Amino acid sequence: MNRRQLLKTGPSGLVGLLSAPYLLGAPKPAPDPCTCTSIEEMIRLCCNENPYGPSPLAREAIQQSIRKGNRYPRRLHRSLKEQLAEYHSLSPDHFLIGSGSAQILQLIALWLGMEQKHILSADNTFAWMMKYAAQFGSQWTKVPLDENQYFDLPTLRQAASNHEGLVYLCNPNNPTGTYLGPERVEPFCRSIAARQPLLVDEAYIEYLEGGESESAIAWIKELPQLMVCRTFSKLYGMAGLRVGYLVAHPERIKELEALEAGFGMNVSATSLAAASASLKDEEFRQSSRIQTQSVRQFVQAQLEEWNVPMADASANFVFCNVDHIKGDLKAALKDENFQLWPFEHNGQKVLRLTIGSKEEMEQFCQKMQPHFTNS
Ligand code: PLP
Repeated sequence: MNRRQLLKTGPSGLVGLLSAPYLLGAPKPAPDPCTCTSIEEMIRLCCNENPYGPSPLAREAIQQSIRKGNRYPRRLHRSLKEQLAEYHSLSPDHFLIGSGSAQILQLIALWLGMEQKHILSADNTFAWMMKYAAQFGSQWTKVPLDENQYFDLPTLRQAASNHEGLVYLCNPNNPTGTYLGPERVEPFCRSIAARQPLLVDEAYIEYLEGGESESAIAWIKELPQLMVCRTFSKLYGMAGLRVGYLVAHPERIKELEALEAGFGMNVSATSLAAASASLKDEEFRQSSRIQTQSVRQFVQAQLEEWNVPMADASANFVFCNVDHIKGDLKAALKDENFQLWPFEHNGQKVLRLTIGSKEEMEQFCQKMQPHFTNS
């Protein structure tokens, strides 16, 4: 048996998460993997942050932009849209800029609630939008990942034929890190977006060599129901600056922008300036990508050596099965000064391990070896 298959998939069939029709009341707060009491002292490998950012050009732009802090950032907002339009060979009205892609996911969830539409997606995937949308009555119909922790596109496609709502594809997927190339994603997007809204979340796609050229953004002009969201939090190393964007048909952008308070001014002048400078900093992106890949290979080799089952990784994290580890892994990580997020997935203990700097990962491997090899 392939070691990757050791990461079992869940029960087959589709499972509706919630059934209440509308406004279900306040949800239980999700446990926060990043509750940091002493960020400075702990090594953070929990939130898929980029240890190298922000880019040198972004740092410079932040300093320059401070003096613009007395003005509403209307012009900077407009000029980032223009820059993104040029970068992706589209027009500025194809873009919505948000305070992180979290704000974009929130707006889409709100729109789904207003339209009384539901969501179809994989389980396990990035569930912020589904959890938020549940407050407005949107149900999440779940399709299990395949046995290698990839989105199961044929099953999802079949399920979509009986589903009127939005389909969400996270590619590369968080938390499993698996990535599907355009030879499989393009026919999927074309068939789904021909009949219903489809959101492709590409938060990590820039980590792939050639990721930009494999993006679903290429089909935006042809498929009015297709939306793609991106973030400056990951490869650009700007998680704390909060900038993300949506690419979609101009009519859909208008519809979503109308739901936003503040008329497109929820991102600060400083963050807009940093995003704009980062887009020009290809050198930083390249070095960030190369360093992450090289450190990830080091970590994967180490985990292989310890016989830890892993899913294929394509971004700045590795998803591994740690069910064999005896004792309280969470406590062990904390004792060793690492902030991480072990959780249960189909009855197995798993870990999504963010790739930090070389020094951080060397420390991780050195200190955690006894725990990983204690079975
Ligand atoms: N989408 C995915 C797949 C993510 O993993 C994250 C954050 O980890 C987000 C969206 C939200 O990121 P941000 O709000 O920082 O852009």
